[in-house]
Amino acid sequence: MSAVNFTNASYLCAAHLARQWPTDVGAEAAFAGRSNVGKSSAINAITRQKNLAHTGKTPGRTRQIVFFQVAAEYRLVDLPGYGYAKAARGLREHWRKIIAEYLRARASLRALIIPMDIRRPLTELDQTMLRRCAEINLPAHILLTKADKLSRARGLQTLARVQAELQTAPQVSVQLFSATRGHGVNAAAQTLLEFLQTAPRPS
Ligand code: GDP
Repeated sequence: MSAVNFTNASYLCAAHLARQWPTDVGAEAAFAGRSNVGKSSAINAITRQKNLAHTGKTPGRTRQIVFFQVAAEYRLVDLPGYGYAKAARGLREHWRKIIAEYLRARASLRALIIPMDIRRPLTELDQTMLRRCAEINLPAHILLTKADKLSRARGLQTLARVQAELQTAPQVSVQLFSATRGHGVNAAAQTLLEFLQTAPRPS
């Protein structure tokens, strides 16, 4: 297998509709999180690119699924941010459907990466996402983002609390992450690589 380096990631396509998704071969890991939690910043930090995923935009404006090519058979996927309060109801419902369809249909999907603001982890929508992962037997990895906003001690406390809450969810892992400081970036990249190298889930 060729060496995988996330810094090689490049934009592949953005899709509104399922038929625009790239061919469902190889392996991909997708990022899904509430708007503004730092999802784009996490993708940029992991790929060590400034602007691969677009940060700081109006929260919730991205309605597409964006695919990035990492290596011939590996992709990273940026799912639309969920739970943007100001979005019209119809739009929120549209996102929910897109994400649900993607999770249900995508055979090459190996894991979901769920960034959560360390100051507000495990919101109701996050819990819904985790339940969905459990239902379809999909591993999930939580990034507690913006860890630089808390002291090291408070960050570790939050990590322990989230881990305790997830004790009964064997397929969920969690780590501290700060795009700004670069903390947890290597660990996240290593975890992603392990996910991409796992065998497909039984359908
Ligand atoms: P997204 O909507 O989830 O993709 O979030 P963005 O990546 O666009 O980030 C939302 C806001 O949080 C931006 O103002 C970022 O600069 C900020 N942000 C993202 N990651 C970090 C981080 O690790 N630390 C701090 N302090 N701010 C961050």
